Amino acid sequence: MEYTVEFHGTLAFFIGSAMMEHIFSRIAPMKDIIEASGVPHTEVGMITSQGVVKDLWYIPEDKSSIHVYPIEPPFNVTIPTLLRPDPFPWIRFIADVNVGKLAKLMRILGFDTAYENGWSDSDIAEKGFKEQRIVLTKDRDLLKRKIISYGRLVRSIKPWDQLAEIVHLFGLENRISPFSRCPLCNITLASVRKEEIIQDLEPLTRIFFNEFKRCPGCKKVYWAGTHHERILEGITALKTGQPL
Ligand SMILES: [Zn+2]
Repeated sequence: MEYTVEFHGTLAFFIGSAMMEHIFSRIAPMKDIIEASGVPHTEVGMITSQGVVKDLWYIPEDKSSIHVYPIEPPFNVTIPTLLRPDPFPWIRFIADVNVGKLAKLMRILGFDTAYENGWSDSDIAEKGFKEQRIVLTKDRDLLKRKIISYGRLVRSIKPWDQLAEIVHLFGLENRISPFSRCPLCNITLASVRKEEIIQDLEPLTRIFFNEFKRCPGCKKVYWAGTHHERILEGITALKTGQPL
């Protein structure tokens, strides 16, 4: 019993470009073989054996030549595939503690992103599964859990680069809705009349701003301050592919 497995494209991130082809003799489902090589199953977009598309539970046959390809942008989690026959009805996320700043930026862009810094790996996996959320993490082992069907091992270091990575991978460029969600609570903001909150505003804010939103959860009030401009510049750069 012997077969070859060749990894392709960006999967080099996990195993090194010099290690892309392996010879195996182990009898096990592809999920185990792929993950023993260091690649979480969530990163795999397609598996073929002798040119035929296979799923994660395929057990290789003798002398077969297997190819493993990465997920490719724009990766649509609402469309069923052989690897993921139960797609999500929506695009929403859950982030672990290692990408907390990314979670906040995702919310500022309007993407539903669950995040709490006290959550364990099991909490994230279970919540991600129950609420059908894409898991964002820097933890490979978390993504190897069977109940996680959609996830991304975030490669970039800086939060804005991470944001660009996620927006690009999941094809979210046209779904950005800046300042529509509370960065603290992940709740959709509601418009609020200036008269209702004027007593809480600083003098200059009272003079220069007329449109306000409020979080129904934490009651924090938001307006288009200086922070706003920087975020909008960042979004423009992200959409046009300029360096941030
Ligand atoms: Zn809030």
